[in-house]
Amino acid sequence: AGVGKTSTACTVASRLGIPFLDTGAMYRAVTWIVSDNGVNPADIGAVNRLIARTKFRFAQGKNSVHFWVNNQEITDQLRTPEITQAVTAVCEIHDVRVYLVKLQREWAARGFGVMEGRDIATVVLPEVGLKIFMTARPDVRALRRAKELGISDDKQAIAKLASELAERDRRDTEREDSPLRTANDAIVIDNSDLNFTEQVD
Ligand code: C5P
Repeated sequence: AGVGKTSTACTVASRLGIPFLDTGAMYRAVTWIVSDNGVNPADIGAVNRLIARTKFRFAQGKNSVHFWVNNQEITDQLRTPEITQAVTAVCEIHDVRVYLVKLQREWAARGFGVMEGRDIATVVLPEVGLKIFMTARPDVRALRRAKELGISDDKQAIAKLASELAERDRRDTEREDSPLRTANDAIVIDNSDLNFTEQVD
């Protein structure tokens, strides 16, 4: 979390002129559906029934991927603190992962593209040709997030962000289903001391 995966992957795809898929946004979109319908993520049967009756669609835009639920565009509503908080529980639901991984594999089967997400190189597309694992030191990631939020001079807030990032990493690494790990044949890029252009290069 907070390593700049999405913006890097999106920019790489646009430089190469190939499509980009932000899989985190797909988990956020399902979380939006669950929240909007007032369904408790712990009620897995209800989550499954809801997914089955929801029309979910995504398409590549100029600089991002757009999402629609039952023909309503929800792209701008996926990065709110509420969704960021709720997504952790929803992305741990096995059936949600099976549903989204199927969509991701169908997308990949259409041709070249850049797909970004924690489990792409290990679970979704283990046979893929080029795998890149991006990482950065926790203090650097917290400071980047703080700059995005315009609070980079607030030491306490940065410490809180660092502990939230560490907690998300811990949950992602320790979860049973598709945990966050580096594929053996991935190229690891630590971008702590790189600027954005350097990391895209
Ligand atoms: O990358 P982003 O913060 O948008 O991801 C949202 C949530 O979806 C994260 O908590 C992450 O654990 C989860 N996720 C996932 N598998 C993916 C992509 C994201 O579980 N392939």
